[in-house]
Amino acid sequence: MTLNFEHVTLGQRVLFGSGKAAEHLANEVRRLGADRVMVIASEFETAIADNVSTLISPVLRWDEVVMHVPVEVAQKARDTAAAHQIDLLVSVGGGSTTGLAKAIALTTGVPIIAVPTTYAGSEATNVWGMTEAARKTTGVDDRVLPVTVIYDAALTLSLPVELSVASGLNGMAHCVDSLWAPKTDPINAALAAEGIRALSQGLRAIKASPQGLAGREQALYGAYLSAVAFASAGSGMHHKICHVLGGTFNLPHAQTHAIMLPYVLAFNSPAAPEASDRIAAAFGTADPNDGLQTLRKILEAPRALADYGFTLDNIDEAVEVAVPQIPATNPRHVDRESLAAVLTAATTGEDPKILTDL
Ligand code: NAD
Repeated sequence: MTLNFEHVTLGQRVLFGSGKAAEHLANEVRRLGADRVMVIASEFETAIADNVSTLISPVLRWDEVVMHVPVEVAQKARDTAAAHQIDLLVSVGGGSTTGLAKAIALTTGVPIIAVPTTYAGSEATNVWGMTEAARKTTGVDDRVLPVTVIYDAALTLSLPVELSVASGLNGMAHCVDSLWAPKTDPINAALAAEGIRALSQGLRAIKASPQGLAGREQALYGAYLSAVAFASAGSGMHHKICHVLGGTFNLPHAQTHAIMLPYVLAFNSPAAPEASDRIAAAFGTADPNDGLQTLRKILEAPRALADYGFTLDNIDEAVEVAVPQIPATNPRHVDRESLAAVLTAATTGEDPKILTDL
């Protein structure tokens, strides 16, 4: 990597502390001078949002949250926010909840405080996403970047281990993809490498001791780094594929990322020696693929797209939509044939090694 680059650091306040979310939120609401707060949390996140909101007085609570933010849901939430003259959005939940807050901020400019409860990382990016007629649209707009992120690992203790693993591997995918994404640079590469290390350590600890805070803290810290790296580097091959699988086939976000990651890594790593060395070093292994697969085995990570409803018959359509979106800067050229091979292996869950010599 030559030291010749342009890097933009996004401005955001990050408050990190287990058991401190309610206090941090009240201080931030005061600091921002907001008095008409809308708290967004899905019905499954309501108890967490109640706990976090004890020291503030929201004028509106919103619990209609749908993965990948359908435009109709976004419009309903925007209209309600406008009718209540909301001046601050507080999202408490996973990436879907943060995504709805972003959809409101996109058209209204109302600031967001994000309190994440998964490792998806949306809170640290200026990327928004919405779906309409089975197509997912994403965009970049600084209005959707939360002004403050409040991380409290205690809020993630209720996230089941399987979901924690999938979500943490979603974070790891941000890191790995950042190393060959169109705007990769030495700053986001350094953050990505530390993100892989922290997520690997954190997820092992969560698997071994789901109610331990130390692993949850490492995973949240890694998730933040992963998102900062991703927001800076942009979407690489991995994200472009997952975007199509989520938007067109409605596959679950975190699990899809967790499954695709070893296949994209096996495909790209032979042509990306610098990225491979960094990934291997972050895992503490000689080979990046061995590091990831060893971790996935320990974590009993999601294995095959077929387990989530994707079939071999879907591959032609997925290839059709995804191939034109793969960045030309990807370390290996991706054509219809190679992408079909990557997706076929991921659908059946066969050993990713077969992609290395494709
Ligand atoms: P999610 O937000 O849909 O959450 C998954 C499930 O976990 C939900 O049922 C949720 O209610 C539940 N949950 C969340 N936190 C919990 C907790 N602490 N305890 C118990 N249950 C909990 O899934 P996700 O993977 O966090 O987010 C996926 C969405 O985020 C996708 O739409 C994706 O596109 C988006 N995303 C966007 C960006 C971005 O930069 N814009 C980045 C990553 C993800």
